[in-house]
Amino acid sequence: MIDSLKVYNSLRGKKEIFEPLNAPHVGMYVCGPTVYSEVHLGNSRTFISFDIIFRYLTHLGYKVRYVRNITDAGHLENDTDDGEDKISKKARLDQLEPMEIVQKYTLDFHHVLRQFNNLAPSIEPTATGHIIEQISMVEEILAKNLAYESNGSIYFDVNAFNQEFNNEYGQLSGRNVDELISNTRELDGQSEKRSPADFALWKKASPEHIMRWKSPWGDGFPGWHMECSVMSSKYLGEQFDIHGGGMDLKFPHHECEIAQNKAAHGKKDPVKYWLHANMLTLNGQKMSKSTGNTLLPHELFSGENDKLSKAFSPMVVRFFILQAHYRSTLDLSDAALLAAEKGYARLLAAAELISKLVPQEKSTVNINQWIADSYAAMNDDFNTPILIANLFEGVRIINSAKAGTETLTAEDLEKFKVSFNQFVFDVLGFKQESELSKTDELFEGVLATLIELRQQAKNNKDWASADLIRTELAKLKITLKDTKEGTDWELE
Ligand code: AMP
Ligand code: ZN
Repeated sequence: MIDSLKVYNSLRGKKEIFEPLNAPHVGMYVCGPTVYSEVHLGNSRTFISFDIIFRYLTHLGYKVRYVRNITDAGHLENDTDDGEDKISKKARLDQLEPMEIVQKYTLDFHHVLRQFNNLAPSIEPTATGHIIEQISMVEEILAKNLAYESNGSIYFDVNAFNQEFNNEYGQLSGRNVDELISNTRELDGQSEKRSPADFALWKKASPEHIMRWKSPWGDGFPGWHMECSVMSSKYLGEQFDIHGGGMDLKFPHHECEIAQNKAAHGKKDPVKYWLHANMLTLNGQKMSKSTGNTLLPHELFSGENDKLSKAFSPMVVRFFILQAHYRSTLDLSDAALLAAEKGYARLLAAAELISKLVPQEKSTVNINQWIADSYAAMNDDFNTPILIANLFEGVRIINSAKAGTETLTAEDLEKFKVSFNQFVFDVLGFKQESELSKTDELFEGVLATLIELRQQAKNNKDWASADLIRTELAKLKITLKDTKEGTDWELE
């Protein structure tokens, strides 16, 4: 008997049985990247964690609407209400339009996630595409008297919210408002706020601020947290199932999102399950753009970094990441990647071998138990390291079956094959990386055949056929070169 899925809900600090609000539909919102720089491996880890969750829920038969935004405005340098907009700043430094920065790093982000074989979300909305909705939500919160205007900016009134909502601000992150206030230094601009705990819903744009929009309160731009409240509720409803992101977003980002949603819509729990992915570290420190402690995916794939002894393929890196549970920290090291490379090769070799196994009269292994153990691992809050350990038990069975020391009936072998492949490829999202080279081999084989046909045509003085082959290949930008040794080809 397979247990039902349990997920660790950060809001309550415990595992809970996953019961969607409107099964078989599941709404999942994950905070996407701020597209002002290349995504590093830490960011990639978080998106791979949620790719697994998306894949597994889909595998279980849920119809998942997965919304992951692109932050292309409103995220200020200090993750608070101060400093320059990260995208404007990069645009100024690179002398480009902000939207050129956004385009460049959105393309980079998509490229990286495709290399890791992540599935695309169902909707990928942008902050700048939802300015009107953000202004409307600010108006709703103002109308409830839970925000106030100050010098052209709108701030959320945390104290008023706490009075109305039973001191719920801080519930997710475990922060206490009084401590928050006493720990806050008085910075320039904060004097506009009634309390240092208040946060910006809308900011007045200074004359030099390039990313600006008209609003009832003058030219300005949305506060960072507003976009996610707006886009999640627009596409998933005022209450939805899963909200995810990295642990570092719990405060202030997610805490403020919850407060905004409650204030605007009055719902008790806008999000049923809050899921947070833990950090990737490098030399024991959080991988982070701002401290320069980063490794970029392309550096791993090319091996061009002092910290690496060689290049590692995207699937080896994915395997390395999934060997840790998404709620544990994970430290990147060359040694760990080398070990992952060996493990991944063994796993994939077994995946090839399983299709070649021959059924026998009797089964010496309990395949149903092996399948149940795989589900039990994933049903326990998406425990990929336990699943991988069980897949290696599968590898042992496959190798033993090949050697003849274990046997499987036709029925068991078929079940085993289907399940092993589903877990390796559909749920964990691995893929055969040799597919490309197989295509290359095929291409070379077809070309060698055409060259041979052309040679035979020439031998038969069938110049028309020989020319046809040459010109048709030339149209595909393949040039044939006749040499003394034979015919060579070159791709333009
Ligand atoms: P950002 O582009 O900075 O908004 O980050 C995008 C996502 O990456 C967020 O969910 C962050 O929590 C996550 N993230 C940032 N640094 C790390 C890290 N070192 N390890 C794992 N996730 C991270
Ligand atoms: Zn967000």
